[in-house]
Amino acid sequence: MRPPPFPGSHLTLDPFGNPHTYGTIHCSAVNGDKDIGCCTTTSGLAWKLPGRVGDSPLLGCGLYCDNAAGSAGATGRGESVIHTLGSFWIVEALARDPDRSVTDICLEACKRIVDRTHEPRMFDENKRPRFSVTFYAVRKNGAYGSACILKGGYAAVCVDGKAQRLESEYLFE
Ligand code: ASP
Repeated sequence: MRPPPFPGSHLTLDPFGNPHTYGTIHCSAVNGDKDIGCCTTTSGLAWKLPGRVGDSPLLGCGLYCDNAAGSAGATGRGESVIHTLGSFWIVEALARDPDRSVTDICLEACKRIVDRTHEPRMFDENKRPRFSVTFYAVRKNGAYGSACILKGGYAAVCVDGKAQRLESEYLFE
């Protein structure tokens, strides 16, 4: 990992060399009684336009849970998550498709975003997206998964007090 270019601050450089900050976190949890909760921190995105509302505070977008099915959340390009109601879509899919893997559902949520993004500026000359979103989700039975558009996303998972880092499945290298 590259060292931060501005020691002592959260600033780093994006892939285009622009200084930016990040740090949005989604947390989904199932307790011992199988009750579900979630939260997503206020967006840590840099250079937001004044007045912009990202996906983090919007239910169904940056976070959603249904105590009958599961929970999901997102980090990354909020406009894309809002456009596809990503977290709501994932929780509905968890309920609809109980045998499908959570990661597979998250991966399809990523694909829905890419398929519905029509601005040419969002893709490079090889049709690779210039942006990413990572989804995180857990079912009521504790099964969990994560997927992102561009390789590099990960989730911290804690089961029975044991923590581990999970590399998110991805659509593009
Ligand atoms: N999803 C956040 C937003 O678009 C950004 C982030 O995850 O860092 O506001």
